[in-house]
Amino acid sequence: MADLKNKVIISAALTGAMTPKSMNPHIPTTPQEIADDAYACWKAGAAVVHLHMRDENGAGTMNKELFKETIDLIKQKPDCDVVINCTTSGDNKAGYDERMAHLAYVKPEIASYDAGSFNWMPFGIFDNSPQFLEQLGLKMKELQIKPEIEVFDTGFMNVAKYFVKKEVLTAPCHYQFVLGVLGGMEATVKNLLYLTEMLPEGSTWSAFGIGRQHMPIMFATLALGGHLRVGLEDNVYYSHGELATNIRLVDRAVRAVTEFGKEVATPDEAREILGILK
Ligand code: ZN
Repeated sequence: MADLKNKVIISAALTGAMTPKSMNPHIPTTPQEIADDAYACWKAGAAVVHLHMRDENGAGTMNKELFKETIDLIKQKPDCDVVINCTTSGDNKAGYDERMAHLAYVKPEIASYDAGSFNWMPFGIFDNSPQFLEQLGLKMKELQIKPEIEVFDTGFMNVAKYFVKKEVLTAPCHYQFVLGVLGGMEATVKNLLYLTEMLPEGSTWSAFGIGRQHMPIMFATLALGGHLRVGLEDNVYYSHGELATNIRLVDRAVRAVTEFGKEVATPDEAREILGILK
């Protein structure tokens, strides 16, 4: 058995809810495009793909049929055992029930759990009320879906702790630090360090910076022992003025992990690290 301590999980966030193709034509938006990118990213070294759906106008949607169609296409790819991670925050206008409807329908292994609300500037309120988080946590527990606790600010850590105490979430939890959204915490190495110091013993964690802070956060995350997330959801540029593709972002993360002296986790190693039952 490989030493899991030396393994880094790379998650590829392929699409996101908002960024239009006009900003980067490589953003996959149809089930076929998303499945093709998921497969290529898995081949390149991503253990996890984080999925959002878009409607025919390119807007974020929680349409469960689209999630199903996309996941079916991914599973039809030869030998593809990538871990599926579905958003529960793919449409700011969707109601709470709509944000959870796909979970029982497609049973992803991981789903996002945004542990708080804030002003997502300039779009609106990112609404994750205590009532929603309780329902969402219990639903994921019932379905044995691993919550990926997305943390945009320090207070979210205490919300997660509260729900662990209430047995809505089960420790050890997996945290995803989302840095650089205007309204959340700034993407600085200092903030990342501060968040990691708040982690309960035994937790697993990953982090990313939005936009140009992507690289400092990626390397700091490696240095601090976290897992990585890359992809067009968070970062449409590869370097200054040069548009990214999901595959190139994964390729770069694989090189960074390897050069750092660690190893890229396979999907099964990621399942073991995260405590996902297969
Ligand atoms: Zn997302």
